[in-house]
Amino acid sequence: MRRFFAAALCAVLACGLTACAQGGEHSAEFYAMDTTMSVTAYGNGAKNAVQKAQTEIDRLESQLSRTRGDSVVSRLNAGSGSQTVGPEVSSLLSIAEEYSAATSGAFDITIAPLVSAWGFTTDHYQVPDQRELDELVTHVGSSHIHLGGESEVSLDNDTQIDLGGIAKGYASDCVEAILAKNGVESAKVELGGNIYVRGSKPDGNAWRVGIQDPNNSDGFVGILSLTDGFAVTSGGYQRYFEQDGKRYHHIIDPATGYPAESGLISVTVVAPGNEEETESCPGHGTMCDAFSTALFVMGEEKAVEFWRSGTYAFQMILVTEDGRVLVTDGLGDEFEQEDGGGYAYETISRSPS
Ligand code: AMP
Ligand code: MG
Repeated sequence: MRRFFAAALCAVLACGLTACAQGGEHSAEFYAMDTTMSVTAYGNGAKNAVQKAQTEIDRLESQLSRTRGDSVVSRLNAGSGSQTVGPEVSSLLSIAEEYSAATSGAFDITIAPLVSAWGFTTDHYQVPDQRELDELVTHVGSSHIHLGGESEVSLDNDTQIDLGGIAKGYASDCVEAILAKNGVESAKVELGGNIYVRGSKPDGNAWRVGIQDPNNSDGFVGILSLTDGFAVTSGGYQRYFEQDGKRYHHIIDPATGYPAESGLISVTVVAPGNEEETESCPGHGTMCDAFSTALFVMGEEKAVEFWRSGTYAFQMILVTEDGRVLVTDGLGDEFEQEDGGGYAYETISRSPS
């Protein structure tokens, strides 16, 4: 079993001259939401913002984790009938429902019982038997969640939710709002595979985000130059176990109950930072997180079709099992390929060639 550590080439930088003059660099590294996280901010307000960001992530984990017995999500999963979850969880559940519908169910927070059956909640891994999976998939699907007014939610019997595919992205949106409120103009946030960079680096250049080579933990398939944006990666290599020579990872296909075998081994979804006026959680960080998970399940063809539909504004980098790296044309010069990994690079444009 390997635990994921965010694939970012933006190693903590010494503060640039301007940033030093304005109050310098402040950074926190910590473990939350089952992954390693770091928040680094520059300039005036940075210290306060970093502390508040960490407190906010702890707060979100205590509300959204389903392994914390006292979280809102655990209460919802354990209870029956209609329950009041509060406006925050309620809005997260509605956006999750929207993304589930948009991706034809590839993203689905009701996979919770399946994630548990494979042992990903407890780290006691096992391949469940087919009968068990057949029964569990009958409780999966957005139609088993009922959202009412006044933050009321009810789940059908035996349906449970798991926000693991969206919570870190949501947290990155919330951290963005905290950085904005504290006047921070330059920052780098890595919440596991969820990266948010605010503005540019203190020296004025774009941040450089390494997209990990799924087949080589020390290598990158490319480097993304990013200014004020989110880049979220989902990959089977981030968490898995092996049994009888076969690898089973943590991204579940809601239709089969099995770890998705779509031909993709990594998906990165990229979107701009949220507009200043509408800086909100949930925002683009949440969207990138949901879609990176969903597109991994959907596979190359459906992912490209979904991107081409243009319903949501994002760019993506797909790495396929057969050694190709597909980059949407909106990333243009921002993506630098790393030769040496043996990959073939292709650009995906809006209309099929
Ligand atoms: P990510 O790393 O964002 O791709 O999310 C993976 C996590 O999301 C897993 O550890 C599960 O908790 C959850 N998950 C797995 N499969 C799905 C799915 N198809 N839709 C929504 N969440 C999922
Ligand atoms: Mg995700």
